[in-house]
Amino acid sequence: MTQESVDAVEEKGIIAAAGGVARVGGEIDYEKFLDCVHCGLCTAACPTYLETGDENNSPRGRIYLMRSVVDGRLELTPKVEEHLDLCLDCRSCETACPSGVQYGRLIEPFRASQRKAAAAAGRPENADWFHRWILYGLFPFPNRMRWALGPAKLMQKLGLDRLLEATGLNRLLPARLRRMQRFLPRLVPGGPPLPEFLPAIGTRRARVALFIGCVADAVFRHTHWATARVLQQNGCEVVIPRGQACCGAIHYHSGADAPALDLAQANARVFEAADVEAVIVNVAGCGSMLKDYGHIAHELQPQNAQLHETLGRCASKMKDVSEFLAELGLVRPTGEIKLRAVYQDACHLGHAQRVREQPRELLAQVPGLEIVPIAEADICCGAAGSYNLTEPEMSDRLAARKLANLVAAKPHAVITGNVGCSMQIQAALRQAGRDVWVAHPMEVLDLSYRGLRPPVV
Ligand code: SF4
Ligand code: SF4
Repeated sequence: MTQESVDAVEEKGIIAAAGGVARVGGEIDYEKFLDCVHCGLCTAACPTYLETGDENNSPRGRIYLMRSVVDGRLELTPKVEEHLDLCLDCRSCETACPSGVQYGRLIEPFRASQRKAAAAAGRPENADWFHRWILYGLFPFPNRMRWALGPAKLMQKLGLDRLLEATGLNRLLPARLRRMQRFLPRLVPGGPPLPEFLPAIGTRRARVALFIGCVADAVFRHTHWATARVLQQNGCEVVIPRGQACCGAIHYHSGADAPALDLAQANARVFEAADVEAVIVNVAGCGSMLKDYGHIAHELQPQNAQLHETLGRCASKMKDVSEFLAELGLVRPTGEIKLRAVYQDACHLGHAQRVREQPRELLAQVPGLEIVPIAEADICCGAAGSYNLTEPEMSDRLAARKLANLVAAKPHAVITGNVGCSMQIQAALRQAGRDVWVAHPMEVLDLSYRGLRPPVV
């Protein structure tokens, strides 16, 4: 941060003379703060800075705020928390940073520490009904999710969801439930549960496991089936181990460390026993969490070498499906998919996992498919996990920004590799009355292999 920026932050009263000394974040490797040389090259890549123009809502500003708290020069006031909470953890700043600052390895443990401190002070942030019953009690369990989605499915079928919105009756729901209802995509039949084993088609080239997760399996099982068929088509034996669990991102990102570690260990056990070359993930948010298991073990249990090794080994097997297929060499799809489409990078794929070219390379091999660029492709759509529920105003502003850029490209389809982005973009398009197909890259490849037509044009 330049001296001018520091002054600006101080002038705004964010950094007051150090009063109470809150050492939240003291567990973070301090060297990671020092990697930031305050050049400011990340600011133009930060969605919240673009929207607010406030240095405290930029990566540089937030790093400075967190470091000041750790140093004891700044009290963790509600105002400081507000700037940090507004961060999407989209990691766009990491891609933009020439100094290799690992921003995710600062904000994530800082938040975990913040929540631990709040709990220790007798005001746990994650003890409300929404965390207990929805985030922890419903989302991580695909069977409970499917059960809970039953009435929503029926309402969609009968058109009652639109009636509720049109008459304003949905305002009777608590605000967060109303938002969830608004973001629920059109529920399509997902098919039966995936079996434990699917054989390779043609010459066997690899043996892989498929991670099916929680919300993704309840709402987007059709995407899992498409992914499994594409893998088979590419000569992969696919095992879908029973006993695999939610990746734990929901818990980790809301400061529930113990369940996050339990879920990580359950996944490590299951995938180790599967004896596969790679574990394939088709949801960017889960993939990013699963690849971070080793780091997270270090952060949460610094002394436990056995845990670091077990979770690190599990993390090393994780591959996004596009990353894996690009490495393996795609069997060329032959069915024509005559569409003009935008490929929208999911932040946790493009920025966090640095998987950017591979999905584009795969899609370029689909006959007839035209991928068109959009402005601000790297900027988050505002979904960001549960962010669209916890920070609705900024989430809506970013969704509107993304919608304007998408619509300008006049696509028939938007292709993206994350369920959260898919739901956010579908909702924005639906509310704008735009009939655009939103699909996962594997759904497009699957249609092409099977010689089927997409549900638009
Ligand atoms: S995070 Fe990177 S790009 Fe941003 S100010 Fe620090 S060094 Fe510069
Ligand atoms: S993670 Fe995203 S929102 Fe947060 S500081 Fe970085 S670019 Fe900005």
